[in-house]
Amino acid sequence: MQKERKLIIAGNWKMNKTVAEALDLVHGLKRELAAIKEVDLVVCPPFTALCEVSRQILDSNIRLGAQNMSEQNGGAYTGEISAVMLKEFSVRYVILGHSERRQHQAETDALISRKALAVHAAALKPIVCIGETLQEREAGKTEEVVGRQLRGSLAGLNKEQMQETILAYEPVWAIGTGRNATPEQAQEVHAFIRRTLTELFDSSVAKRVRIQYGGSVKPSNARDLMSQPDVDGALVGGASLETRSFSDIIKNSI
Ligand code: PEP
Repeated sequence: MQKERKLIIAGNWKMNKTVAEALDLVHGLKRELAAIKEVDLVVCPPFTALCEVSRQILDSNIRLGAQNMSEQNGGAYTGEISAVMLKEFSVRYVILGHSERRQHQAETDALISRKALAVHAAALKPIVCIGETLQEREAGKTEEVVGRQLRGSLAGLNKEQMQETILAYEPVWAIGTGRNATPEQAQEVHAFIRRTLTELFDSSVAKRVRIQYGGSVKPSNARDLMSQPDVDGALVGGASLETRSFSDIIKNSI
């Protein structure tokens, strides 16, 4: 499929996979996806598996992402992980502001923007997640919520940093529920996001930013979602935990 921007498909493993299980999965992905050049491939294991997975994908087309990062460079921040620590394992991408962190760790747009600046300062690329709840959608507030999250989470980024930022539109009601947004619903919000980027930055930045869709992406819906003009990839949770389903999503997307 011909796309304006190169697709980027990332697997968010969340709090799953021991090191042995992670290596098993990554071996399978290397085997299945060795020939893929059309898509930027990213896996985001838990911190504990980054070191071993990093070694295993050295000679492959798979890149490494982390699921979170501290805004601080180091020091007395118990339980936190800094950019320097991630870079030791050749991490390239960092997921920020996932709705699970917004919900369970009370992450705010202001914190996410500080983290995004720290990610850029380390020459890594943030994957900034945004998305409305079911209640917000049903109240007709999707654009209001997504617009506010964009303005807050991207505050302070300059145009160069924005171009290197990936956005993930993840409607909260579609995450882990098996109920994906329809391709039309996804396209509608992605187009809104791009219009907002034009307002906040400019049209050339807006044209270059890749916007992933996330929320119950699976092999059976990947093609229709990825064929939408403003959908430039996927952030995949559950279906990224098995070699077969994650590789089929990628193969069905090209
Ligand atoms: C996610 O958590 O980023 C996600 C999209 O999960 P799932 O694919 O399981 O809905």
